[in-house]
Amino acid sequence: MAMPTNVKTDQDYPVPATMKAWVLGDPGELTLQDKPVPVPERAEVLVRIDAVAICATDLEIICHGPPAEIQGGDPYNKGFTPGHEYMGTVVALGPGVDEYAIGDRVAVEIHAGCGQCRRCREGMYTSCHNYGKNYGDVDKGHRANGFTTDGGFCEYQINNINTLVHVADDMSDEEATLVVTAGTAMYGLIELGGLVAGESVVVTGPGPIGLMGVAVAKALGAQPVILTGTRDNRLEIGKKLGADHVVNVRNEDPVEAVQRLTDGKGVDYVVECSAAPNAINDAARMVNRGGKICLAAFPTDAPVVDVAHLVRNNIYVYGIRGEGKTATHRAEAFMRQKRFDATLIHTHTFPMTELPEAIRYAKDRVEDAIKVVVKNDHAVARLQAAE
Ligand SMILES: [Zn+2]
Ligand SMILES: [Zn+2]
Repeated sequence: MAMPTNVKTDQDYPVPATMKAWVLGDPGELTLQDKPVPVPERAEVLVRIDAVAICATDLEIICHGPPAEIQGGDPYNKGFTPGHEYMGTVVALGPGVDEYAIGDRVAVEIHAGCGQCRRCREGMYTSCHNYGKNYGDVDKGHRANGFTTDGGFCEYQINNINTLVHVADDMSDEEATLVVTAGTAMYGLIELGGLVAGESVVVTGPGPIGLMGVAVAKALGAQPVILTGTRDNRLEIGKKLGADHVVNVRNEDPVEAVQRLTDGKGVDYVVECSAAPNAINDAARMVNRGGKICLAAFPTDAPVVDVAHLVRNNIYVYGIRGEGKTATHRAEAFMRQKRFDATLIHTHTFPMTELPEAIRYAKDRVEDAIKVVVKNDHAVARLQAAE
């Protein structure tokens, strides 16, 4: 038993002293190692990780480094465990925690801000000014699991209670890993001004966040919701999630299509999830005057932007980071109410021990993979016992 006496545990959820964890060595190199199970402190719980979804940002971190930042630098050869879109079961409570109970099923969001900087005090904890400062003499207590602290490609992880969301009993482990994805889409729509019923939205790029953007926009009452992309199979999933129109940009110019579908009026909001080189200029010609654009994707190169068009037309542009303003709670509520079926974007499941193969599926889109999930044995065993 590794937990100190001020940490609450329960014999129904035994906590071992060590666990298996994937550790990042050189770029692209992951090895399965033994690590101590971490100990929750004040305002933290220990989560037994049941399932983790692989995100495009994980692939960025594993192969290139940013936006991960470990001990003030790149994440390589520092014993770092990536993975951030996980769910699991609370198995130990740090001192004073009564917000969650042992046995609770939870999904997580990533960012626990420092709680003391200007942005955290404004509620914008995903924009914490002390990002990554959680070590040595600059320890401000910031955590972003899988980015600045150890993440979920392992068996147990500590989470600040502010990063937890209860999930409905009838929600599968795989679906629960998607709460944070839907939460990111929800945050984008909140930043655009809190979408109200009857306003029009284009989502560009049918990746996981784009597809969840369609679902959340529709659940909020937007009309029409238009999805643009290059892959027909993903556009079809977009229709099932609530898109009124889909546009394959290989067949039709997306700006002309949006103007046609809105009788030349353009839309109120664009949620840009494609990272295409000209996406922001296209978005600026899809929105109407005074419209708003949310940028939710990271393009690799710096695009040339027609700023004059933005200024002349009073177009607002927002960059979003993460899933701020407790948007995950609102996303989980929609999923709990079955307002959309997030599982449509889950395509593959692998055991945690086969993480490299799961990553290959996600990266190369093997068998049209969209969201690939890895599960720990304890979760798989529980599922088999239930069947
Ligand atoms: Zn992610
Ligand atoms: Zn902060």
